[in-house]
Amino acid sequence: MRCLRYERGATVAEAVHRVAGHPAATFLAGGTSVVDLLKLDAITPDVLVDVRDLPLADIVAEPGQIRVGATVRNSDLAAHPAVADRFPVLAEALLAGASPQLRNMATLAGNMLQRTRCSYFRDPAADCNKRAPGTGCSALRGLNRDQAVLGGSADCIAVFPSDACTALAMLDAVVHTVRPGGDTRTIAFGDLHTLPGDTPHVETVLEHGELITHLVLHDLPVARLSAYLKVRDRSSYDFALASAAVALEVGDGVVTAVRIALGGVATRPWRCREAEQLLLGLVPSPESFRAGAALALADARPQTGNAFKIQLAEQTLIAALTDLANREDPR
Ligand SMILES: Cc1cc2nc3c(=O)[nH]c(=O)nc-3n(C[C@H](O)[C@H](O)[C@H](O)COP(=O)(O)OP(=O)(O)OC[C@H]3O[C@@H](n4cnc5c(N)ncnc54)[C@H](O)[C@@H]3O)c2cc1C
Repeated sequence: MRCLRYERGATVAEAVHRVAGHPAATFLAGGTSVVDLLKLDAITPDVLVDVRDLPLADIVAEPGQIRVGATVRNSDLAAHPAVADRFPVLAEALLAGASPQLRNMATLAGNMLQRTRCSYFRDPAADCNKRAPGTGCSALRGLNRDQAVLGGSADCIAVFPSDACTALAMLDAVVHTVRPGGDTRTIAFGDLHTLPGDTPHVETVLEHGELITHLVLHDLPVARLSAYLKVRDRSSYDFALASAAVALEVGDGVVTAVRIALGGVATRPWRCREAEQLLLGLVPSPESFRAGAALALADARPQTGNAFKIQLAEQTLIAALTDLANREDPR
């Protein structure tokens, strides 16, 4: 049996200090990822610093932006009228994740920093460069149906599993943190998660002990007509095999603004900027959506068991864009 210390920080500064001052300490929010992995011995922290009592649980909707505290529950964020109105893609992505019980526990920051569902990462007996650097990647030579086709490396092909983060990637959200030294910083959401490269155990740009305090969603007119489409083995309580977060604006018969991100197929939330550029100015048609989807997956590198994900992701993206193009624009 391993000993584990449970602590609470009374203030943000104290919580940061408690984790930063101890190399094997970690923050605990809803615990739906941390406790899961602790029970599997896939992670082995010896101090858990609970952040749920910190004053970080507010959603403040103002003209021009919505500020979301790090410990806001996924279910509360999805149900907030301003989120559903201004960023429907985010509300839909949150509701597509996990189950109602989990969404009632899981927090925004916890969702952003959840670990991969790769079965080799979750099995301490397996080789996994992410869990135990230098041991190898069992997925590359093993079962890799669920793994990434985009953003992988010779050391890791684990999919980043979050639905909400796929939406946040195309919304250009901004993450606010407090660093161990006490100063604050902002991180563009697209810069938060790193590619695995030859250091797959490093998953974000955060320092040890750096606490996410809140996230800001700046108003984005194109997001008023946006949606999240998720394809999975069963229609509830399952992770994405492929998903698409899309926003579309059409004026005078051509695409005037578009945002695209893919989930379930990449090692981090996957923004598709080149496909967005390609679609700008084109007539929103099956041909142009097919061309955009092909470009979005052009860099895909399949493994023995997951080549199907390329076509699945393309079709998911085409279907999501087609759905938006056929809707009445609420703007
Ligand atoms: C059965 C099951 C099914 C699931 N299905 C889905 C799904 O379909 N889609 C999906 O997107 N997700 C799914 N999830 C994942 C779930 O959404 C995450 O486990 C959850 O969002 C994590 O949030 P949490 O608050 O519980 O985080 P925790 O488990 O408490 O923490 C997760 C990580 O975040 C860190 N952390 C937490 N808060 C902060 C902070 N403020 N600053 C810095 N670090 C912090 C912790 O140290 C830890 O590393 C599923 C989970 C389970 C167990």
